[in-house]
Amino acid sequence: MSSPPWHREVLERLMGRRPRLPHALLVSGRPGIGKVAFAREFARSLLCESPIDLLACGECPSCHWFGQSNHPDYREIVPEAAEEGDGETPEAEAGKDPARKSLVIKIDQVRAIRDFVSLSTHRAGHRAIVLHPAEALQPAAANALLKTLEEPPPATVILLVSDRPARLLATIRSRCESVVLRAPARAQALAWLAEGGAMDAEASLALAGGAPLLAADLARPEERDWRRKVVAELSRPDGAHVFSFAVGMDRANLDRTLFVMQTWVHDLLRLKHDSGPRHHIEAAAALKAKARRARLDRLLALDRELLEARRLAGHPLNARLAAEHLMMAYNRATLG
Ligand SMILES: [Zn+2]
Repeated sequence: MSSPPWHREVLERLMGRRPRLPHALLVSGRPGIGKVAFAREFARSLLCESPIDLLACGECPSCHWFGQSNHPDYREIVPEAAEEGDGETPEAEAGKDPARKSLVIKIDQVRAIRDFVSLSTHRAGHRAIVLHPAEALQPAAANALLKTLEEPPPATVILLVSDRPARLLATIRSRCESVVLRAPARAQALAWLAEGGAMDAEASLALAGGAPLLAADLARPEERDWRRKVVAELSRPDGAHVFSFAVGMDRANLDRTLFVMQTWVHDLLRLKHDSGPRHHIEAAAALKAKARRARLDRLLALDRELLEARRLAGHPLNARLAAEHLMMAYNRATLG
């Protein structure tokens, strides 16, 4: 899928300040709108040796290296669990259980930045570091990063990417220039999804609340298959079959289930307030039937529980028990 075009204007504006770019940027905005892609594109353009209209040419040695993910003046810092393979690496190959990989950014990873910036640059004289998600910084790592931001290394731009900038240290935020990115207009998002060959682009985009990268992810066959299973369960007139549904539940499917349940409950709440569904537009009839018997107070309580469960995503918990518990709460909320 091509890099998202809807942030181009912001990128051009920033690159237009090329001789005097800030040392650090905090790129924020909703999940799934392409913040990391933006940060990478910024880095690629910064490092490009012959930019065209301020942006990366795609042809020079620097762009070539960037494309091969081995540019010597570029580093990306992510939690261990988000590294290559995205947790999908077979256990034997990864050497350890992917579920046990770290979900936080550790101090050693931030210290490595210091070593990296102490070397001279290899190519055009700039260096770029993209760190995401910034809210995954452990407290000690955040403090180490703050020291680096307080004494900014020369010719280096550090980009922090975050869905939840409010969770960062205020002292870190104040050292960064804020770049707030937005979702594109619906038509542009749909065109981009179609170009990438996404199935059910409209339904996926609705489910993603208008965030195109999230929609592309939700349109993948394994996501759609699981979603159908959860929606079928949530739609049962006699209530979800809690125990058979939860059998064999693993962490990844629990996360998928949480997303479907959360968006489903939001739709039920909208129906309770006489609006139409916003996310599960293909299941409008089932939603309406469910909303009729649902109790508002219990739906609101379930919504809070789901939010809390998603917040605990990084913590070890028994996926089967969590799924059972939430499905039971769902039945209590929707069977009147
Ligand atoms: Zn180039």
